[in-house]
Amino acid sequence: MEGLRFDDVSLPPQAEALRAQVRAFLAQHQPRETLPDSDFNHGHDAAFSAALGKRGWIGMTWPRRYGGGERSFFERYVVTEELLAAGAPVSAHWIADRQSGPLLLRYGTEAQRERFVPPITRGESYFSIGMSEPDSGSDLASVRPSARKVSGGYVVNGTKVWTTDAHRNHFIIALVRTEPPGENRHAGLSQLIIDLRGDGVQVRPIRNIAGDEDFNEVVFSDCFVPDDQLVGRPGNGWEQVTSELSYERSGPERFLSAFRVLVEFVRAVGAAPTDHQAAVIGRLAGQLMTLRQMSISVAGMLQAGASPAVEAALVKALGNDFEKELPEIARAAAPPLPDEHRFRATLAQTLLHMPAFTIRGGTREILRGVIARGLGLR
Ligand SMILES: Cc1cc2nc3c(=O)[nH]c(=O)nc-3n(C[C@H](O)[C@H](O)[C@H](O)COP(=O)(O)OP(=O)(O)OC[C@H]3O[C@@H](n4cnc5c(N)ncnc54)[C@H](O)[C@@H]3O)c2cc1C
Repeated sequence: MEGLRFDDVSLPPQAEALRAQVRAFLAQHQPRETLPDSDFNHGHDAAFSAALGKRGWIGMTWPRRYGGGERSFFERYVVTEELLAAGAPVSAHWIADRQSGPLLLRYGTEAQRERFVPPITRGESYFSIGMSEPDSGSDLASVRPSARKVSGGYVVNGTKVWTTDAHRNHFIIALVRTEPPGENRHAGLSQLIIDLRGDGVQVRPIRNIAGDEDFNEVVFSDCFVPDDQLVGRPGNGWEQVTSELSYERSGPERFLSAFRVLVEFVRAVGAAPTDHQAAVIGRLAGQLMTLRQMSISVAGMLQAGASPAVEAALVKALGNDFEKELPEIARAAAPPLPDEHRFRATLAQTLLHMPAFTIRGGTREILRGVIARGLGLR
């Protein structure tokens, strides 16, 4: 198991103390008219994100000078866990808080940090991930959009796809080719911050199986991006994208997407579950606690400044299996209930979004490849 490490880490008391505060905040700010949904892609709600920002719970670990809270990754863990468990509408700020902000703090220029990071912490500025393309998802190194150097910037042409919330967000950080592909496939890639409402950018929503328009095709046609919106060094995009993935893959959103189904299942069976229902609850709770412990351990590594890419991939791979299994197990064990019952409504909502759980952020086959490489097996 060399290459894989999960220290036994506990949440410190000051992190646990936040739990009650988040619950009080949610009692006041969580919209009541929609069905709570633990999927982090659910609910793009600018008012909720702004309230969260005002409370200091976006950019919690970032430097104060850019609007951050200089708090620990454990405190951030508690806040994100509580928001997801309650099914709060977090999708507007989620990507910016989870990975775009950290990326800019690590690789961005001082001017970029000053311009882009404070509005993220206020819950006012939202980012999309521009990695996947029509012919390039898992094999990210094969990305094609070209960014041609011109005086004062780059001219971008090409297409991104499955871009979550591009029709609602402000910016996309797009992985593009600033040099033609050579022998080293990982060379010549760069990341550009592109204004999603700017000239030369067309955002076309794609309808998913649930009938929602959550993700998009984004087409760049001679889109000019100024030099000061290049993130990091030209050609260093591969290293930067890889560092983003530790943040993208390890959080509680990778095993809590279906959590509301468990909550409503427990409520539906009430105080007198059958032996089978009790066993199902025990089994799911046991799996959940194990994943949670692993994810907290990764938070500990992030806190220590490490880049736990392999451990994060393992949390996501196992977590996605769990969140895909949970609704099926609960459905099979549930008592007969009318369609309008809260358990049935929550289950229906989750089942329609479930196909995405093991695909977004890297498929399970790709994650298994990352884990195998980390273990020295390939
Ligand atoms: C809801 C949702 C939201 C998303 N949001 C975003 C977003 O905001 N930004 C973004 O950039 N992308 C986003 N994605 C895209 C997502 O990251 C890709 O769909 C994913 O990486 C898979 O790429 P692909 O669809 O091209 O599938 P492919 O790469 O074509 O894979 C097809 C199948 O082949 C398997 N496969 C591929 N290569 C290998 C291999 N080497 N070994 C074994 N098996 C392999 C895969 O596991 C998969 O089962 C989103 C996807 C979903 C479903």
